[in-house]
Parts: sequence; C-alpha cells; structure tokens
Amino acid sequence: MTNQELWQAVLAQIQFNISSANFATWFQKTCILEKKINKVVVSVPNNFSKEWLKNKYNKPILKILHNLDFEIKEVEYQVSKIINIPEKAIVSLPENDQLEFNEFQLDKETNLNPRYTFENFVIGSFNELAHAAGWAVSKSPGTVYNPLFIYGGVGLGKTHLLQAIGNKINGKRPQKVKYVTSEKFTSGVVSAIKNHNVEEFKSKFRSVSVLIIDDIQFLAGKTKTQEEFFHTFNSLYEQNKQIILSSDRPPKAIPALEERLRSRFEGGMTADISLPDIETRIAILKVKLHERKASLDGRVLEYIASKIQNNIRELEGALNKLTAFQKFNKRSLDLETSKTLLKNLFISPNRVVTPQKIIKIVSSFYDLKEKDLLTRSRKKEIVKPRQITMYLLREELKSSFPFIGKRLGGKDHTTAIYACTKISQELKKNDNLSEEINLIRQRIYNNPL
Ligand code: ADP
Ligand code: MG
Repeated sequence: MTNQELWQAVLAQIQFNISSANFATWFQKTCILEKKINKVVVSVPNNFSKEWLKNKYNKPILKILHNLDFEIKEVEYQVSKIINIPEKAIVSLPENDQLEFNEFQLDKETNLNPRYTFENFVIGSFNELAHAAGWAVSKSPGTVYNPLFIYGGVGLGKTHLLQAIGNKINGKRPQKVKYVTSEKFTSGVVSAIKNHNVEEFKSKFRSVSVLIIDDIQFLAGKTKTQEEFFHTFNSLYEQNKQIILSSDRPPKAIPALEERLRSRFEGGMTADISLPDIETRIAILKVKLHERKASLDGRVLEYIASKIQNNIRELEGALNKLTAFQKFNKRSLDLETSKTLLKNLFISPNRVVTPQKIIKIVSSFYDLKEKDLLTRSRKKEIVKPRQITMYLLREELKSSFPFIGKRLGGKDHTTAIYACTKISQELKKNDNLSEEINLIRQRIYNNPL
C-alpha cells in the first residue's frame, strides 16, 4: 500500500463517521508526509489543525492506521506549507459542504444564513399553514399576522422557515431584519445589565423593522429576560414592526411564561409544523440531492424516507453519509450497501426508549425536576405530568401497571391504572392535551439523551 492509498483508506473511514463540514475543515488538506516502520507523519496545513487533529482525532486515526498496518503505533502531525496533496486524496466535496461553511459566514447585522430560502423549502400538508403564513408575512411585514408564532418539534424546519422569511424581507430596503435565538437574546440582556448598557441594548432591538426570535421556549423561567422582551415586543408592535417567533410548543404549553407574554404571543397568528408524510420526505430528499448535485437510487431514497420519519435534519444526515460515500468511492450505491451503511444510524442507542428517558423528558418538558414526579404531591402542576408519564410508560413501553406504580416513587398499581385511564379519556375530548403529548412523544423519539 502506498502512503497515498493508506491515507485514503483512513480518510474513507473517518469521513463516514463525522459530519461533512468537520471532515472538510480538518481533513481536506492533509496527507501522509512520511511513513516509518511504526510511525506515520501526517502533514497538516497549519498549527490550529495540528492541535485539533492531535487532541480530537488522534485516537481514531491511530486506531484505523493500526488496523490497516498493525506495526503503526504512533502518529505525528507536522505543519507543512508546501502540501503535496496526492491527486486521489483530494476529496472533491459535495456542494453541501460549501453551504455548510456558509453557516459561519452569517451576516453579522442580521444573523441570516442565505442558505435558507423559500425556494428550497418543501411544502406539504404538515407545514402548509406555517408556510402560507410565513409567505404572507414576508410579502407585507408588520401588517398581516403580528406576531407570527411558528411551533413544532426538533428538526422540522422552524429555523429554515424563519430564516427564509428574514431573507425574503431583507432584500427590500429599508427593512432592517434581525434574527436571534432566544439564548442569544437572553445572554444579551444579562450582559447588558452587567455592563450597564441596557439602553444601548434596547435601542439595538427597538430600531429593527423585523425581529425574529428562534426557540422562544428557552425564555421559560427567565424573568428578567421576559420582562425586557415584553417591553421590546410592545415597542415594536406599537410601531407596526413585524415580530416572528418560534418554539417547540404552542404558547399555552410553555411553562413559566408570564401571562402577559403568553397572551401577546397568542394575539397574532399561531401555526404549527407537524410531521411530513412519506411522499414529502422523499420530495425533501430530492431537493437536498439536487442542492448537492448528487443522485441516489430511487429505492435508496424510499428506504431512507421510510426509516426516518420525524426529523428532517436526520433525513439529511443519512443522505449526507450516503452521498459522501458515493463521491469518495466513485460508485453508486445499491440498496443493500446503503442499508449496511445506515445501520448504525438506525440502531444507535439514542433511539432506545427507556422508562428513565420518558421520565426525564416529561419532567424537562414541564420544567420540573425528575424527583417531583416521584413524590406524592397533589399539586396540579405535578399531578398532570405524573399521569402523563404513567400513560407514556404504558403506551410506549407496554409496561405493567405494578411496574409503572413502582417506578414513579413506589405507588400502587391502582394509581397507575387510574392515571392511564384518566389520560386516555381526557385525550378524547381535549385537543390541547393530545397535541402536548405528541410533542413529548416527538422528543422521546428525537432526543439524543
Ligand atoms: P428546527 O429549527 O425545527 O429544529 P431546522 O429548520 O433547523 O429545524 O431544519 C432542519 C433541517 O431540515 C435543515 O437543514 C432544513 O433545511 C431542513 N428542512 C426542514 N424543513 C424543510 C423543508 N420543508 N424543506 C426542505 N428542507 C427542510
Ligand atoms: Mg431551530
């Protein structure tokens, strides 16, 4: 095996195990400079890469090298300016990698990423309403739906849609758009208070014509930030400036949210994004393939779409792995190989639902401590989440009633039966509850805990 072949074999395995953006960042300009009996010297483009490879990737690199040639016991990284990249090691990266890099080139003023547009946003019945409302807002900001509140589970396109609206409006002067995550907003408030420049902070947000705040659920329990946001909200609203918000759940289900904010959020248009059906999932895969200028066998696409049902980000992840593999190996994948390649993705331990995971997710959904669920408290804020936990243990894991009772702080099996019956009956007449439980379910199946 030549050095070139050896390194290519290493890259092939690494590429498959890390994100394509990371791969491009850390491995694109590397090659083997020299191979001694038990040591390989890898050429890297700069000191930063050297440190990074040494500290973060040395173990896997060494392991792969050792598997290929068991005499190799050490890897050294050397910065070399004249990198003689062997032709074959130049990995031509799919378009997507370029796009992913753009994420780091966000517009500083607006925080908008040009990658997210309406043109590449696929519409299906699951997001039709949210899309229509977003489109209308982008056509006449501040007048049709204010605020616009979009909610839905993880990886289903909230950020994409919010950014698409922002990008659409941003082209039109004199509109000044600003996108922030609620975490960024919160840390802004905190540091403004600390540094005594609250006025400056205020004016920064109050001078925009469109304010977009993503993942507003993280304002839960943050009193000071909520207060600041309330004033910003009112100030913009009174001037007919557009406010666009997203959350993983509807306003009424955000715990520890001040009533006055909740009613503000509900005062405009609320639209949800649910789960895409299989046809839409395939359509999304096709759009992503087109963006990457790649192609995959139709049966492979169907396979991915049938396996990944509730997270578009993961759908894309699977696609990235397969297209990267094809590109690297210069051959198209058949269904069987694709299945093998994606296996790890589907049986990752994250997918396994356990009673512990259910308890953890329900308690965090309701902003409670896990142990609150295990107490005997009769407080309304605790009884309902506890009953929902019991119901989910029964529904999702088919747990026995005695087990459920015991798991939730040593309660009797009759308590578990009562809780499950109560929730089932309630679900028949209460749409809010069924929506809430669906959101929890999505988290249970999506959350890499
Ligand atoms: P969320 O903010 O809801 O967690 P994102 O907006 O980050 O989800 O979406 C995750 C990924 O899925 C993004 O890469 C996005 O481009 C893609 N995506 C989501 N919805 C769509 C859609 N309707 N059409 C095309 N791509 C989508
Ligand atoms: Mg998001």
